Formats: sequence, structure tokens, C-alpha cells
Amino acid sequence: MINVTRTFLPPIDEYMNCLSRSWNSRWLTNRGSLLLELEESLKGFLRVPNLLSVSNGTVALQFAIRALGLRDEVITTPFSYVATVSSLVWEGCEPVFVDIEPETLTIDTTKIRSRITERTTGILATHVYGNPCFVEEIEAIAEECGISVIYDAAHCFGVDYKGKSILEWGNISTLSFHATKLFHTGEGGAVVTKDEDLLKEMHYLHNFGHEGPDAFHGLGINGKVSELSAAMGLSILPYVPQIIERRKAVVERYKSNLENSEIKCQKIRTGTEWNYSYLPVILPSEPDLTRSMSQLAAFDIHPRRYFYPSLNKLPYVVPQNCPIAEEVSQRIVCLPLFDTLDADTVDQICEILVGKG
Ligand SMILES: *Cc1c(COP(=O)(O)O)cnc(C)c1O
Repeated sequence: MINVTRTFLPPIDEYMNCLSRSWNSRWLTNRGSLLLELEESLKGFLRVPNLLSVSNGTVALQFAIRALGLRDEVITTPFSYVATVSSLVWEGCEPVFVDIEPETLTIDTTKIRSRITERTTGILATHVYGNPCFVEEIEAIAEECGISVIYDAAHCFGVDYKGKSILEWGNISTLSFHATKLFHTGEGGAVVTKDEDLLKEMHYLHNFGHEGPDAFHGLGINGKVSELSAAMGLSILPYVPQIIERRKAVVERYKSNLENSEIKCQKIRTGTEWNYSYLPVILPSEPDLTRSMSQLAAFDIHPRRYFYPSLNKLPYVVPQNCPIAEEVSQRIVCLPLFDTLDADTVDQICEILVGKG
């Protein structure tokens, strides 16, 4: 069976070797030495000054929303994973949807200003499949209007933009280390910010609000990461450059196979050093998509409709129109992509897609 992704696992002896440190110390959580080492390694690898590990990419978003004090209306994108919008609603904010650009699939910055009101407190945008938003323009709008910016960078592990980490943009960026992501700790995530005060605030939030053992800074919950997860991350991190290299070769093969077909790929923003985290393709129509998916399923090949449906259609948001996101989400599918996917399978998938299979 070929799925849309295949979780990378390190050699088990390397994982056990890491875990043995936790066995020897009998220390399983509460920011143990494996986690502290992982955070240091991640800061080095991603070239960011601050990073706080949290238990998943969804609470990372919730902590970011809360630390920035977002409330009332928040501008966001309809084209993302549900967690982007559900986090806003969970934190008591009203999502205001701005449609996407049809080629980059990121939020259309030309449509943001007209949706900003006196009740707008921030922008939460997704770097879609690791493709950066038009961050310069979003920064200009945010400065002009005095509002905050969060980037859902769940897909952005290792993405650089114009020579520096994409995570440097916005007030806070969030990462997911879920097992389906390029780098993972089983479950996990992180928040990245240059602002020391925000970092401190999110630190309190993820540890019950504890200020030392017997005092509390404020309301918090448990968003901590165990040593077992940290060991997974530490054992995978050295393989990331190789994982990205191999995925790049797979993506290039897909792209050259599909080049002269009706099937379109996402346009990656100029200046991006991408991480090849997903391979979304846009088919001519939804019937083409369902037909291709069932043809692939006959060979036990399972791409995934991601992102579908468009998030402005969620049952718990105020209905809003986003014609481009709605239309794209009906025709887009993420093809199988992982480091060990072989060229023959890529060719087979492409032949089925372009109708020669
Ligand atoms: C995976 C993902 C999340 C959620 O991350 P979890 O770690 O699974 O909670 C949020 N946003 C996007 C865009 C994602 O792809």
C-alpha cells in the first residue's frame, strides 16, 4: 500500500540509545535533559533565537493566540488544515476569511485591508504546504493597522525565505511535529518568536501557569513534551537534510512527468528554499479528481484530499464566501510523497493521472 505519506523512523537502536538516558535518570517529562537538548538542536538547525516545544501544533496555535491577546475578529485563510480555524474559535475569536491566491494558494493580501474593522486584532495565516505567504505585505498591513501576526508554519520545517528562516516572520510562528510531518516527534509542536516576553508568556501557558513550585503567574494548561517524544526528535533530526534531499528528487520526478499535462502544481514564491513537504496537484475538475483517486485506489495507492473542505464551510463559523478556496479545494489532492518513494511508483501514479494508465 502506498499512502500520501510514510512516517520516517530512525534506526531503532539509535532511538533506544537516546531513550536509555531517560531510563537511567528516571526522568520522563517536565522539560528533561532530552527535551532541552532537542530545543537547542532545533534552534541551531532552524536558525531561530527562541523556540519552545509544546505537545502539538494545535496547542501551539492556541498559545500563540492567547499570548498575543487576540480576541474579536481575526483575519485568516479558508485554505489550511482545520486546526488553524478551530484554534481561533476555541480561543473565542471570530474567524474572518480572506480568499487565497489561485497559484501560490496562500492568503490573498490584496483582499485583507477591506476586511479589517475596528474589531480586528490580528492575522493568522498559513504558509500553505510550506510555501511562504506574501510576508512583506502582511507585515506592512499589520504595522499600518496595529495588529498582530501569527503564521501557522506547521509545514515549514527547514523552509528559508530570502536567505533566512521563514519562522522569523510575524510575531509568532507555530510548528507541528505530528507523525505525518516532515520532522516529527510522534505528536509535538513548537512556538517560535523573537519576542522574549511572548516566549515567557507561552512558557507559563504550557506549564499550568507555574511560577516556581508554589506560585502561579496566571491561567495555564498542560502543553509539555515528554522525554519519549524528545528522544524521537533527537534521533530523527540528523536525518532531516537527507530526507529533504530525497523528497526533492521525488518532487522533481513528479513535476517533470506532469509538466505538459492539464495537471497543475502549486507556484512556490520566488526567494523560497522549500522543504518539499507536500506535493499538491490541481486537476481540471472534481470529477477528474474522484476518477483519478479511484483509479489509484485500484493499485492500492492513496493520495489525500488535503485541504478539503474549504474552512469557510465549517459548521461553526459564520458563512462567508471564498470562491477561489472553495473551487481549488474541490480539485486539489496531495500525491504520495516520502523519502523512500521509488521512481517507478512516481511514474505509475503520473501515468494514471494523465490518463495513460
Ligand atoms: C498538522 C497541522 C496542524 C496541527 O498540528 P498538530 O500537531 O497535528 O496539532 C495545524 N495546521 C496545519 C496547517 C497543519 O498541517
